[in-house]
Amino acid sequence: MDLNMYPRVILKGTLFKKSQQKRRTSPCNYKERFFVLNTEELSYSERRPGKKPITKGCIELSRIKCVEIVRSDVPIPCEFKYPFQVVYDNYYLYMFAPDNDSRLKWVRAIKEETKDNLLSSKYHPDFWIEGRWRCCHQTEKLATGCSNYYPIGTASKKPLPPTPDPQRRFSSPEERIVVALKNFTPSEDTDIPLHKDEEYIVIDSSQPNWWTVRDKDGNVGSVPCIYITEKFTNNIEKYEWYNKDISRAEAEELLMKENKEGAFMVRDSRQTGVYTVSVFTKAPGSNGEKFPRVKHYKIRQTESGESRYYLAEKYLFSTIPELIHYHQHNAAGLITRLRHCVSRDRSTSLRIEEMASEAWELEPEEITFGEELGSGQFGLVWKGSWCGKNVAIKTVRENSMSEEEFKEEARVMMKLSHPKLVQLYGACTQRSPICLVFEYLKNGCLANYLRTSRGSLTQEILLSMCVDVSEAMAYLESSNFIHRDLAARNCLVSEDLVVKVSDFGMTRFVLDDKYTSSEGTKYPVKWSSLEVIKYSRFSSKSDVWSFGVLMWEVYSEGRLPYECRSNAEVVESLNAGQRLLQPRLCPETVYQLMHWCWKEKPEDRPSFALLLHELASLADS
Ligand code: ADP
Repeated sequence: MDLNMYPRVILKGTLFKKSQQKRRTSPCNYKERFFVLNTEELSYSERRPGKKPITKGCIELSRIKCVEIVRSDVPIPCEFKYPFQVVYDNYYLYMFAPDNDSRLKWVRAIKEETKDNLLSSKYHPDFWIEGRWRCCHQTEKLATGCSNYYPIGTASKKPLPPTPDPQRRFSSPEERIVVALKNFTPSEDTDIPLHKDEEYIVIDSSQPNWWTVRDKDGNVGSVPCIYITEKFTNNIEKYEWYNKDISRAEAEELLMKENKEGAFMVRDSRQTGVYTVSVFTKAPGSNGEKFPRVKHYKIRQTESGESRYYLAEKYLFSTIPELIHYHQHNAAGLITRLRHCVSRDRSTSLRIEEMASEAWELEPEEITFGEELGSGQFGLVWKGSWCGKNVAIKTVRENSMSEEEFKEEARVMMKLSHPKLVQLYGACTQRSPICLVFEYLKNGCLANYLRTSRGSLTQEILLSMCVDVSEAMAYLESSNFIHRDLAARNCLVSEDLVVKVSDFGMTRFVLDDKYTSSEGTKYPVKWSSLEVIKYSRFSSKSDVWSFGVLMWEVYSEGRLPYECRSNAEVVESLNAGQRLLQPRLCPETVYQLMHWCWKEKPEDRPSFALLLHELASLADS
């Protein structure tokens, strides 16, 4: 008998597989199967004691286009927790191994057998779930992958793919330099180590938690993106906000023409080697200055020691790009934060922006109003329908919202899309009052839901509510978007108890100063971090503080934090190092996470990516 006639078995063993969800609505099941990889095919069968195995599926190896580890932080609801994917034709087969070694063994073996196939050059490192790719948020299942696929690279012990020609290093706009904030020891073959303060080049930052970087020796691999930070250099010429050789008068003319609050640019001062930030504002000046107008701030340098840069107040930065980045998020002494950069050569990009801005404008005839749902910051909220969908319609009372700013931001907010964020569908600004149209969630606001369900919410539900919110926030964090008012009252609950985050970024458009000034009676002091209360310094880390308070609200079943204390008393006790007490229903592990969120220094708090990881592992265990 010629043994070569038969395919040789390479690997076999029990793994779990996820049903392939060929139809979007089909349920997602995990099935235990016995897999056999031979030199021709990958087949799987159902084995039941005392019965003949039944072959359930078979994939010819020649059809395989990619096999790779799945990196995801979603909890895996089957016994085996190490996922990998096999992409063949237009299908995705997700398989789950019992441990990392077994997973690598399978991935390497299939890679080896398929290395001469016509392979994909890109793949999706995370799962396809609920109608979108978790890695790049594309909603088309067949959308091209968002990460480079290395047929023999990352998951195998073989040498990494050759380093691209150094001349080409910066040809891709994606590639940028980062610095490691701390050491990182790889836990998987696909990772590379990070050494504190060393530089790396980002090759792929499309995933929320793990980025692919290249080190100085050309090794490529994944690292947690919370451990690295962008390296700012003092070469400002590449930045869109820098206008070389522009006079003060020309700058003023351009900014006045732009006519947008916070329009700004950086230009050369008359004094050589010195730069000026010019900002447009419509805000009334304290000493009777006329408005609208352009204000100019010289970028100053400290004289003693290592030179550092600052603007109005003494927040010091090592480079000008860092300083600008900071003031894009915080006014901190400027008349307004730096909102839109203006450059001389922007006529084409402006036109594109203008065209895109119409995408969120909805036709009033398409919107039907139903019952009233409640009353919000800007006015009444109604249930309604739009394009056959149930929606929530927020009407905006006159003078309650900075409509112009909202219109500018609506485009950004519409682009934010995640299963755990309440989707903004668009706005109708052609009639008064203007109204904003959102996804409708049947169980309304989380704070009320917690109160009305007291006594009936299980530990599992309480934890899954926190996981949901941390998922949405990890997404906002990775999109560099700050919520600014995260609290249970700003989350909504769906019919099947999924919690979604709402009202992200909306406080920026509130005109009522009782709400916006930290001394105002409506200011959410009890959810605010110390640096927000003291200096209005918002960041994703100030959102993390608020998230700690939100977790406290969840485990207190909707009680008000610091119930009997005034805002002033709360600030005093926070300054004295006191924090909210452990709610009766809250496990110690979750309370420790809350405390971590309430660290005084923002940099000592965890990122949302890390919180999500911690909470998801608790939910898993
Ligand atoms: P705002 O944040 O503008 O102050 P809210 O979001 O608190 O307004 O809205 C007021 C009430 O309207 C909420 O308590 C909630 O009951 C209801 N509501 C708001 N948005 C939705 C929505 N998308 N789906 C269902 N109900 C909603």
